[in-house]
Amino acid sequence: MHLPLALANWKMAMTLAETRAFVAAFVPQVADVWERVDIVICPPFTALHTLAQALEGTPVQVGAQNLHPGPGEAFTGEVSAALLADAGAQWVLLGHWERRRHFGETDALVNRKVHAALAVGLRPILLVGEPAGWHGDARTALAQQLEHVLMGCTAEQVATTAFVYEPEAAIGGAEPISPEQVGIGCDFIRTWLGERFGLEVAQKVRIIYGGSVTPEHVAALLTQPGVDGLGAGRKGRDPEAFARIVRRIVERNAPLHRSEGGGA
Ligand code: PGA
Repeated sequence: MHLPLALANWKMAMTLAETRAFVAAFVPQVADVWERVDIVICPPFTALHTLAQALEGTPVQVGAQNLHPGPGEAFTGEVSAALLADAGAQWVLLGHWERRRHFGETDALVNRKVHAALAVGLRPILLVGEPAGWHGDARTALAQQLEHVLMGCTAEQVATTAFVYEPEAAIGGAEPISPEQVGIGCDFIRTWLGERFGLEVAQKVRIIYGGSVTPEHVAALLTQPGVDGLGAGRKGRDPEAFARIVRRIVERNAPLHRSEGGGA
């Protein structure tokens, strides 16, 4: 049985002092439940090591928000997968819409980053979702992204990754998309992974939803059985709000639906 996943993406925010203050406030609020959930916090590069140190002795994990795939070191201003791992990262977010939109990241580049991460044992958290203004079926956009970002990956590699269904239009808004839409997106990702990499892989990976998640919305979003947890941007920087999100994920005991023999 795998644990549900709670993800915080701090984006381009959080000084070192704010990072330490977050940990001091957050840790006591989740310490009684953190064995029952994987909590991954993704700070900016500058706070990676500070966050990893502050979380030492806890099971809370650290992720980066991006990497440069190289090869080699002649990329002034960039950060490699190996350096991220050295700074304490175990995970890395790849494919976020803000990177696609503002930095022109393509599926092909995300795919190179996936392989660079896997090569040093960093676990990719792949963000997939339809672009803003998409009028077709979300599943069409998801299938295309999944096909390209996972190109050349083995089933064993995919089994170490996690997925966030995060439609571009859902980011930075007032509220998430409807629980039904969340269910459709997450279920489709699992079905697609099952067909491509096998049922075992599809059941092993965590597939969560991200996009304007607040503590108030968590219960409704988690009514969808195919959603293994949630990711938060703005609310992921607020220790009280993120702790509430984490606790609600634990209360719902997400993995049971599959260990009881249910399918995707
Ligand atoms: P948000 O950000 O929760 O502030 O909408 C989500 C994200 O971009 O991952």
